[in-house]
Amino acid sequence: MNLPVITNEARPDDWRWQARHAITDLASLEAALPLTDDERRGTVRALAEGFPLSITPYYLSLIDPADPACPIRRQCVPVAQEAEEVPGDLRDPLGEEAHQVAPHLVQRYPDRVLLLATDRCGVYCRFCTRSRMVGQGGGARSMEALGPAFDYIRRTPEIADVIISGGDPLVMATPRIVPILEALREIPHVVTVRIATRAPVTLPQRIDDELCQALRTHPATWVMTHFNHPRELTDQSRAACARLADHGLPVMNQTVLLRGINDDAAVLTELFRGLVGTRVRPYYLLQADPVRGTSHLRTRLSDSIAIMERLEGHLSGIAVPKLIVDTPEGRGKVVIGPDRVVSRSVGVTRLRTFRDEEVDYIDPPGAPGAQ
Ligand code: SF4
Repeated sequence: MNLPVITNEARPDDWRWQARHAITDLASLEAALPLTDDERRGTVRALAEGFPLSITPYYLSLIDPADPACPIRRQCVPVAQEAEEVPGDLRDPLGEEAHQVAPHLVQRYPDRVLLLATDRCGVYCRFCTRSRMVGQGGGARSMEALGPAFDYIRRTPEIADVIISGGDPLVMATPRIVPILEALREIPHVVTVRIATRAPVTLPQRIDDELCQALRTHPATWVMTHFNHPRELTDQSRAACARLADHGLPVMNQTVLLRGINDDAAVLTELFRGLVGTRVRPYYLLQADPVRGTSHLRTRLSDSIAIMERLEGHLSGIAVPKLIVDTPEGRGKVVIGPDRVVSRSVGVTRLRTFRDEEVDYIDPPGAPGAQ
């Protein structure tokens, strides 16, 4: 087996080293992995078209260099199919530009906003919903640049939840993260702050005690991470999640369903069991957004529902996420899953259990509509 040229052994605990030595060009990628023609063409095109390449040495070390179908590799190495556009593909599938309420601030729901604090990530995921903007060179947004976003949040009392995303906000240096949390802490109606990050997955060295303490700057910071495959649950990534939990930070996980990568009930069972064993709650299983050039990675919705059918009842409730479709153009998330209601009549609902048995649920007498 050919080993990658840059290995994780060089400076295993230094996240800045990991970020500085990320693979970002074709020559380094070719030196690290024997590329297929598809991957070579895909990388040349991706770099020319502006959806950059970045793979940290740590994440690279998880790739099986001998296997072009490796589920880690397929998440981060460009392929020629990214040039294909199919009906339904969108540049901005969640309509974030149309829902921008201030620079770097998106509002799609009455009570929450999305603060895009940077455009950088440790690894650029090939299925990224924001492929239109990540890695475009802006980097971390200054507090001055975020000022109008904070002003909007301050004067909108309905906003109770702020999601800090990007890019990956934890790729920013800690002194850039703390003032954002301090500013949000000073807004009384902001109850929760969520940090959307893949750092525990792609750059677990980043999750050190100093960062965990800094994240407690806001009293209700939640960490929303993004594990997609059980191979991403390494000793290092588990330790990163444990450190967050040990500092009192709730950790939730969103998994994107990806064709040929994790669209398999056995793979997801292993992932979700591993996550709850690491004190991470699987929260959403996301139907992949119809981002242009990602049709080769997307599942059919009927297949996604069939996977949920095999998970429900067979996995502890704390390990089963909701299957979510984030509807195009920013119209909001829809929870979807196996249809468990067989029939409804006045006061009686016939349900189908995970064992495929039909059972009547009877409403209490005297309840409106009951007999
Ligand atoms: S870490 Fe998040 S924002 Fe960055 S490329 Fe991956 S999915 Fe996109």
